[in-house]
Amino acid sequence: MQAVTAYIGIGSNLADPVAQVRQAALALEALPQTRAIACSPLYRSKPWGLPGQPDYINAVAALETTLPALELLTQLQEIETARGRVRTVRWGPRPLDLDILLYGGLQLGGPRLTIPHPRLRERAFVLYPLRDLAPDLRLPDGTTLAELLEQCPPWELERVEESELKVSWQVQEIPHNIGVST
Ligand code: ATP
Ligand code: MG
Ligand code: MG
Repeated sequence: MQAVTAYIGIGSNLADPVAQVRQAALALEALPQTRAIACSPLYRSKPWGLPGQPDYINAVAALETTLPALELLTQLQEIETARGRVRTVRWGPRPLDLDILLYGGLQLGGPRLTIPHPRLRERAFVLYPLRDLAPDLRLPDGTTLAELLEQCPPWELERVEESELKVSWQVQEIPHNIGVST
């Protein structure tokens, strides 16, 4: 199988979220049949879906993989479980969430897996780190990332300046700096 570029959304709001995201980046790098390409800087965001939980730390990683999409999802869920993820409340707090945002040009709507990620378009904590990695990105339906960003201001999204990810494949230079407000 030809390698596909997949974008993975990483999120954590429990048990030292910055360390969780860093560990997750290392775990992604160790996936079979996969090469880690780049990881965005870290962002802090307000909880989505269920209020009253701690803030999140988010990042997006770009991978090149020959794992089929469902196999990639299985591998990501194994990493989540290894970090102590227990699925109780939908959108509740968690030590680690790994979502497949995009998998090449694939469009998929299945019982276990929807690609592009169904809530990708409305989430600043996904769109801004994606822009760090691939400002010219297009979704499989042709929508540009720039168009999505126009509709999604970075309210309550903040770059985490003080704690870099420290994985060798982190993006060193990003092409812009977003105006942030909390
Ligand atoms: P959200 O999907 O809104 O980000 P969540 O990440 O908290 O919420 P999870 O509990 O991690 O949701 O996953 C719920 C289910 O979503 C998983 O069991 C998985 O089968 C399914 N799923 C569907 N599409 C995707 C995708 N693109 N990436 C990850 N999981 C997905
Ligand atoms: Mg999620
Ligand atoms: Mg998830």
